[in-house]
Amino acid sequence: MIDRKAISDLRQRIFWLREDREKLENSLFRAKKMIRASLVFLPNYCGKKDCRCKKGFPHGPYPYLSEKRKGKTRMTYVKKRTLHEVKLEAEEYARFQHQLARFNKLNEKIRSLFEQIRDLNCRGVEEYRKVLTQRKKNIPRQENEKGN
Ligand SMILES: [Zn+2]
Repeated sequence: MIDRKAISDLRQRIFWLREDREKLENSLFRAKKMIRASLVFLPNYCGKKDCRCKKGFPHGPYPYLSEKRKGKTRMTYVKKRTLHEVKLEAEEYARFQHQLARFNKLNEKIRSLFEQIRDLNCRGVEEYRKVLTQRKKNIPRQENEKGN
Protein backbone atom coordinates (compact mmCIF):
# COMPACT_ATOMS: atom_id res chain seq x y z
CA MET A 1 0.00 0.00 0.00
CA ILE A 2 1.32 3.45 -0.97
CA ASP A 3 1.17 5.96 1.87
CA ARG A 4 -0.67 8.82 0.13
CA LYS A 5 -0.62 11.03 3.22
CA ALA A 6 3.16 10.75 3.58
CA ILE A 7 3.68 11.55 -0.09
CA SER A 8 1.39 14.57 0.13
CA ASP A 9 3.35 15.86 3.19
CA LEU A 10 6.63 15.42 1.33
CA ARG A 11 5.25 17.30 -1.67
CA GLN A 12 4.19 20.18 0.58
CA ARG A 13 7.67 20.37 2.14
CA ILE A 14 9.29 20.39 -1.30
CA PHE A 15 6.94 23.17 -2.34
CA TRP A 16 8.07 25.40 0.54
CA LEU A 17 11.73 24.64 -0.05
CA ARG A 18 11.35 25.55 -3.72
CA GLU A 19 9.95 28.94 -2.69
CA ASP A 20 12.98 29.49 -0.45
CA ARG A 21 15.24 28.42 -3.26
CA GLU A 22 13.61 30.79 -5.72
CA LYS A 23 14.18 33.75 -3.38
CA LEU A 24 17.78 32.70 -3.04
CA GLU A 25 18.16 32.37 -6.80
CA ASN A 26 16.75 35.86 -7.32
CA SER A 27 19.31 37.20 -4.88
CA LEU A 28 22.13 35.32 -6.62
CA PHE A 29 21.02 36.84 -9.92
CA ARG A 30 21.64 40.29 -8.45
CA ALA A 31 25.35 39.65 -7.90
CA LYS A 32 27.49 42.77 -7.76
CA LYS A 33 31.20 43.32 -8.26
CA MET A 34 33.27 41.13 -5.91
CA ILE A 35 36.82 40.33 -4.95
CA ARG A 36 37.85 36.75 -4.16
CA ALA A 37 39.20 37.48 -0.68
CA SER A 38 38.24 38.68 2.76
CA LEU A 39 39.26 41.97 4.29
CA VAL A 40 41.18 41.65 7.54
CA PHE A 41 42.93 44.15 9.80
CA LEU A 42 46.30 43.13 11.17
CA PRO A 43 48.81 44.77 13.50
CA ASN A 44 52.27 45.41 12.17
CA TYR A 45 55.69 44.99 13.82
CA CYS A 46 58.35 47.00 12.02
CA GLY A 47 61.28 45.35 13.75
CA LYS A 48 63.14 48.60 14.49
CA LYS A 49 65.08 48.67 17.73
CA ASP A 50 63.46 50.65 20.56
CA CYS A 51 60.16 51.00 18.61
CA ARG A 52 56.90 50.96 20.56
CA CYS A 53 55.86 47.81 18.66
CA LYS A 54 58.70 45.95 20.37
CA LYS A 55 57.10 46.84 23.69
CA GLY A 56 53.73 45.39 22.75
CA PHE A 57 52.19 48.40 21.00
CA PRO A 58 52.08 47.36 17.36
CA HIS A 59 51.46 49.70 14.41
CA GLY A 60 48.15 49.70 12.68
CA PRO A 61 46.02 47.69 12.45
CA TYR A 62 46.30 47.84 8.67
CA PRO A 63 43.86 46.47 6.11
CA TYR A 64 44.80 43.41 4.06
CA LEU A 65 43.10 41.21 1.55
CA SER A 66 43.37 37.62 2.71
CA GLU A 67 43.03 35.01 -0.04
CA LYS A 68 43.50 31.27 -0.31
CA ARG A 69 45.85 30.25 -3.10
CA LYS A 70 46.75 26.57 -3.55
CA GLY A 71 46.01 25.91 0.10
CA LYS A 72 48.07 28.82 1.31
CA THR A 73 46.90 32.18 2.61
CA ARG A 74 48.30 35.23 0.89
CA MET A 75 48.00 38.74 2.29
CA THR A 76 47.86 41.84 0.12
CA TYR A 77 48.05 45.27 1.66
CA VAL A 78 45.06 47.49 0.83
CA LYS A 79 45.77 51.13 0.04
CA LYS A 80 43.62 53.61 1.90
CA ARG A 81 42.06 55.18 -1.21
CA THR A 82 40.82 51.76 -2.39
CA LEU A 83 39.66 50.57 1.05
CA HIS A 84 35.98 51.47 0.64
CA GLU A 85 35.69 49.83 -2.78
CA VAL A 86 37.56 46.70 -1.68
CA LYS A 87 35.47 46.43 1.48
CA LEU A 88 32.22 46.43 -0.52
CA GLU A 89 33.58 43.85 -2.96
CA ALA A 90 34.79 41.55 -0.17
CA GLU A 91 31.42 41.85 1.60
CA GLU A 92 29.61 41.00 -1.60
CA TYR A 93 31.87 37.99 -2.10
CA ALA A 94 31.14 36.76 1.44
CA ARG A 95 27.39 37.28 0.91
CA PHE A 96 27.45 35.42 -2.39
CA GLN A 97 29.46 32.50 -1.02
CA HIS A 98 27.14 32.24 1.96
CA GLN A 99 24.09 32.16 -0.29
CA LEU A 100 25.66 29.60 -2.60
CA ALA A 101 26.24 27.35 0.41
CA ARG A 102 22.59 27.78 1.43
CA PHE A 103 21.57 27.02 -2.15
CA ASN A 104 23.49 23.74 -2.02
CA LYS A 105 21.90 22.80 1.30
CA LEU A 106 18.42 23.52 -0.03
CA ASN A 107 19.08 21.43 -3.12
CA GLU A 108 20.31 18.56 -0.96
CA LYS A 109 17.17 18.75 1.19
CA ILE A 110 14.90 18.85 -1.86
CA ARG A 111 16.72 15.91 -3.40
CA SER A 112 16.42 13.87 -0.22
CA LEU A 113 12.66 14.55 -0.08
CA PHE A 114 12.32 13.44 -3.70
CA GLU A 115 14.20 10.27 -2.79
CA GLN A 116 11.71 9.67 0.02
CA ILE A 117 8.86 10.07 -2.47
CA ARG A 118 10.62 7.62 -4.75
CA ASP A 119 11.03 5.10 -1.94
CA LEU A 120 7.37 5.38 -0.94
CA ASN A 121 6.35 4.64 -4.53
CA CYS A 122 9.01 2.05 -5.10
CA ARG A 123 8.97 -1.74 -4.74
CA GLY A 124 11.94 -4.00 -4.95
CA VAL A 125 12.38 -6.73 -7.54
CA GLU A 126 12.17 -9.22 -4.64
CA GLU A 127 8.56 -8.20 -4.15
CA TYR A 128 7.85 -8.65 -7.84
CA ARG A 129 9.39 -12.15 -7.74
CA LYS A 130 7.16 -13.09 -4.81
CA VAL A 131 4.09 -12.01 -6.75
CA LEU A 132 5.23 -14.14 -9.72
CA THR A 133 5.74 -17.28 -7.64
CA GLN A 134 2.38 -16.81 -5.97
CA ARG A 135 0.72 -16.58 -9.39
CA LYS A 136 2.48 -19.75 -10.56
CA LYS A 137 1.15 -21.60 -7.51
CA ASN A 138 -2.33 -20.20 -8.11
CA ILE A 139 -2.57 -21.00 -11.84
CA PRO A 140 -2.81 -24.83 -11.62
CA ARG A 141 -5.38 -24.60 -8.86
CA GLN A 142 -7.49 -22.24 -10.94
CA GLU A 143 -7.26 -24.65 -13.88
CA ASN A 144 -8.33 -27.48 -11.60
CA GLU A 145 -11.25 -25.44 -10.42
CA LYS A 146 -12.25 -24.88 -14.04
CA GLY A 147 -11.89 -28.60 -14.69
CA ASN A 148 -14.19 -29.43 -11.81
ZN1 LIG B 1 57.57 49.48 15.12
